[in-house]
This record gives sequence, structure tokens and C-alpha cells, in this order.
Amino acid sequence: MNYNQILKEIYEEIQPYAQTGEPASYIPELLKVNPDRYGICLRTIEGKEYAQGDSDERFAVQSISKVFSLAMSFGRIGNELWKRIGVEPSGNAFNSIFQLEMERGIPRNPLINAGALVMADVLLSVLDYPEREYLSFVRKLCGNDMIQYNESMATSEREYGYLNAAITNMLKYHGNIENDIERVLRFYFRQCSIGMNCRELARAFLPFADHTRPFSFDGIELTTSQVKRINAIMQTCGFYDEAGEFSYLVGLPGKSGVGGGIAAVCPRKYSVAVWSPRLNPKGNSVMGMKALELLTTKTAISIF
Ligand code: GLN
Repeated sequence: MNYNQILKEIYEEIQPYAQTGEPASYIPELLKVNPDRYGICLRTIEGKEYAQGDSDERFAVQSISKVFSLAMSFGRIGNELWKRIGVEPSGNAFNSIFQLEMERGIPRNPLINAGALVMADVLLSVLDYPEREYLSFVRKLCGNDMIQYNESMATSEREYGYLNAAITNMLKYHGNIENDIERVLRFYFRQCSIGMNCRELARAFLPFADHTRPFSFDGIELTTSQVKRINAIMQTCGFYDEAGEFSYLVGLPGKSGVGGGIAAVCPRKYSVAVWSPRLNPKGNSVMGMKALELLTTKTAISIF
């Protein structure tokens, strides 16, 4: 497969969408980023890497971090996690609160905000040094010790994080948060603030594409079956109320973030990360989705 050629063609074909959509404005720090960036990196399970555009520029991973949280909390407490979080698509926005009230404080799945806030709480309870260990795990996954939290991003998000605070309060009211609400929120916003580029994200996601090797990073171990289930959750829940659309257009398990990044895996073949800050109304990168749609169309490979 000539991935270099395919990435080049994709770049040319997505140009008509270059000005479509707006970057997320509810996190002021995100508006400091040039919205016209675009980068992509694909990494095969044989370890070959193909990149295009701004693939070395770091951006806030935002909700893509929910996959790291899921790997860590599922690895640490196994199926106990499912007593506190479901595995059904929500069909609602990532920051929806009304479903959480209807379902009495049990988030629909781990990849919406409510689910990630419960996972942050789990990790605060089971880890000795949660912030340090979380970062260390992500660094090991992508093989780069330079990965950092972006403190001003995290602080800015806390300052305006009224809805996430409301969600955490709702969870606490229903007995689904053990720790102090403020600690949970701070930890969650720091996870979202982590800066990574497309190359680093593609590396971090490769272990989810590769069921043949044991998943073992920094003391977090997942069985083949757990990796399979994480992929299933990404497939059904990774794009909130656009999960069906992403499945239909792209056909890969993946996860988006409001920083404009999308990471996806083609099981047993490759991982891919794409970044472009302009978002559609559902909070997913316009060019990122288009690029991945073209990738699975041109290669004629997806999970379907
Ligand atoms: N930090 C963001 C929030 O909680 C993450 C949302 C996202 O990337 N979809 O609103």
C-alpha cells in the first residue's frame, strides 16, 4: 500500500473544506491556536510511519485522553468499572447532563465527559500519585518523555468549566464520586490539556491496533480481550452523537477531541492520528473526519 501517495491525495482532496467549521471557543486557550493547521500521521503495526502537514505540532488532546483513562482504569480495576459506567452509545452531546439525571448518576459510557469524570475519580482512588502516574503512562505509550500537561489550558478550562462542575456534582449526589469534587475536576482538566502531536498520538494508539502483542505499559496491563473491548467502545461511543456517522463514513474505532484531533485504529493494520482545529457542530474536526473517510475509501480497508 502506497500510504505516502494516499496521504498526499487526501491532502489535496480535503482543501475545499479548509475554511469549514470553527475551533472550539468555550475553552479560551484553544482560540490561541491557528485554526488552519492540518496534520496527519499513520503508523503500521510493522512500525512504518507516514506523515503529512503539521504532524509535528502539538495540540491539546482533550477528549482523546478519555481512551488513556479507560485503558488505565480498566487495567487497574477490570470489570468493577462497569458497576459505575455503562457501555452504550449516548446519542447525546459529550457534555450532556440530562441523561445522567435520568439514569441516576451512571454515565452511559466512558468516552463522554461524565464517564471520564468517574474514571478520573477511580484513578484518584487507586493510584498513589495520580497526576504523575497518568502522565508517565501516556509518555510510555507514545515513547516520548517530553509530553506535558498544559497548565494554562487546564486552569482556563476550570475557570469556565461550569457544566463539567455540574456533571461532577450530579455524579457525587448519586454516590458515583468518592473523592473531592474539585480534585476530580482538576485532574480531568489536566488530562484533557495534555499536548501531543499526530506522530505521538499515532504511536500511543498503535498498541490498541495490535492485538498480537501484550499490552503492558508502565505497570498497566490489558488482556487481548480488554483491548478488543476498548476498540468496541471507541467504535460505538468515540464520537458522541456522531458515532453512527463516523462509523458510516470512516468505519474505524476512534476518538475525537475538541482540540481538533482524532485518533483511530485499524485493528491488526495501523493507527492514525489527524489534527485540524475547525470543528463541525458536534465538536468533531471537519477536515479530520473527511481525511479519515478518504483514507478508508482509498485503501478499501476498514473494519467493515
Ligand atoms: N475538556 C473538554 C470538555 O470537558 C473535552 C471535550 C471534548 O474534547 N469533546 O468539555
